[in-house]
Amino acid sequence: MSKLRYKRVLLKLSGEALAGEQGYGIEPKTITTIANEIKEVVACGVQLSLVIGGGNIFRGLAASSKGMDRASADYMGMLATMINSLAMQDALEKVGVDTRVQSAIAMQEVAEPYIRRRAIRHLEKGRVVIFGAGTGNPYFTTDTAASLRAMEVGAEVILKGTKVDGVYTADPKKDVNAVKFAQLTYIEVLKKGLQVMDATATSLCMDNNLPIIVFDVTTDGNVKKVVCGEPIGTIVKG
Ligand code: UDP
Repeated sequence: MSKLRYKRVLLKLSGEALAGEQGYGIEPKTITTIANEIKEVVACGVQLSLVIGGGNIFRGLAASSKGMDRASADYMGMLATMINSLAMQDALEKVGVDTRVQSAIAMQEVAEPYIRRRAIRHLEKGRVVIFGAGTGNPYFTTDTAASLRAMEVGAEVILKGTKVDGVYTADPKKDVNAVKFAQLTYIEVLKKGLQVMDATATSLCMDNNLPIIVFDVTTDGNVKKVVCGEPIGTIVKG
């Protein structure tokens, strides 16, 4: 069995990663596939926490550009991340992985409140902790929530699972000359405005030296490869 490179990780999935081919909402087959990928690495002893976006259901910025109050729209976005978190909890538990959902917005009937030390204890016990409701604040994104939670629980790396196999010089779907970066610095990401994470999230990782690996989560076995340190995707570090 390959050796683990990382023991405690935070996996960030965009809401769209759960939508599969349908492009909206949650596709059962897709979420089950991801749950099985997670199961495989947890079985190897990796302590894994998860942040899932909400873009497959609702995005605050998009709604506010059509006239909705931004803060209200963002709260709706945060609730969308809770829907995804509960769906992922269900999918993981169906394949036999113990989980806890912790919400940044109090909703004690559906999830635990976010308590850092409790989250760490769950991880130590081998449970997957799903952090829902983003940071609990409007004007932020789930990328920032992922960076913040990763730092708080002492994750060694953020694994940003996307539909693309890394960061490119241009959109590889639109530009045939687009080249993939194997490695980038935080400053390069910020200066070039590369689509890794938003600037707030990237700066937070830079200030605290937390590496980010952008990889394709839709390919079978990739979560395992990335925790074993195989050079797939693009790594962003100092
Ligand atoms: N959101 C927020 N504060 C947070 C995290 C998320 O207000 O700390 C809202 C925001 O409206 C965002 C939505 O939740 O558009 C969904 O999150 P995001 O767009 O990051 O999801 P993704 O693009 O990863 O699917």
